[in-house]
Amino acid sequence: MNIEAFFKVTYGLYIVSSSHEKKNNGYIANTVFQVTAEPPQLAISCNKDNLTSEIINKSGFFSVSVLNQETKPETIGLFGYNSGKNKNKFETIDYFTTDNKTPVVTEDCIAWFECKVINKVDVGSHILFIGEIINNDLIDSEASPLTYAYYRDIKKGMAPKNAPTYIDKEKLSKKEKTVSPELKKYRCLACGYIYDPAIGDKEHGIEPGTPFTDLPEDWVCPVCGSPKTMFEEL
Ligand code: FE
Repeated sequence: MNIEAFFKVTYGLYIVSSSHEKKNNGYIANTVFQVTAEPPQLAISCNKDNLTSEIINKSGFFSVSVLNQETKPETIGLFGYNSGKNKNKFETIDYFTTDNKTPVVTEDCIAWFECKVINKVDVGSHILFIGEIINNDLIDSEASPLTYAYYRDIKKGMAPKNAPTYIDKEKLSKKEKTVSPELKKYRCLACGYIYDPAIGDKEHGIEPGTPFTDLPEDWVCPVCGSPKTMFEEL
């Protein structure tokens, strides 16, 4: 199997949310796609271990919010690298609730859809929920949607472990060459982002050639907002 071939399949990035008995939850999804136009239907592939999966099963409704290309790393960190089992992800994010009690995240999002589940397919580790779109709107017609390729290549993010498209990082690391100690790479334990001193973090004023140990103490992971202490040497 050539893992790199999977990188040629394109995806967007979304927040999928649902609610049951006043428990709101949501997660970052890349496997969201329109399956038919008439009736308008969306499908999502959701890991069975995800709390949201359980909630959608019970409520029969879910929402899909399309992430803005300029999404804050904190938003991706909050919804992509935390479990709703031990955190209320909706405490610090802008959202509204539909008549069916479905939470819809609006912060860092440019459009949304609310769906009623009309079919489910068990695909092993994941469940495919097929939903009829019952409500939707645009939030920002000018902004571009965040794609998985942009997130991976520009933001240097990796898919969370429960994502259908997760790739074991050990399988990729074989290609890394040995480097001098000051040019060692560090990986964010929360999201898998790799700090490469040869590249730096220009967006946050870190010049190429800056060793990880020389990064300012208040520097945070550009993807998920985790502090330096969350990084491990590769
Ligand atoms: Fe991170």
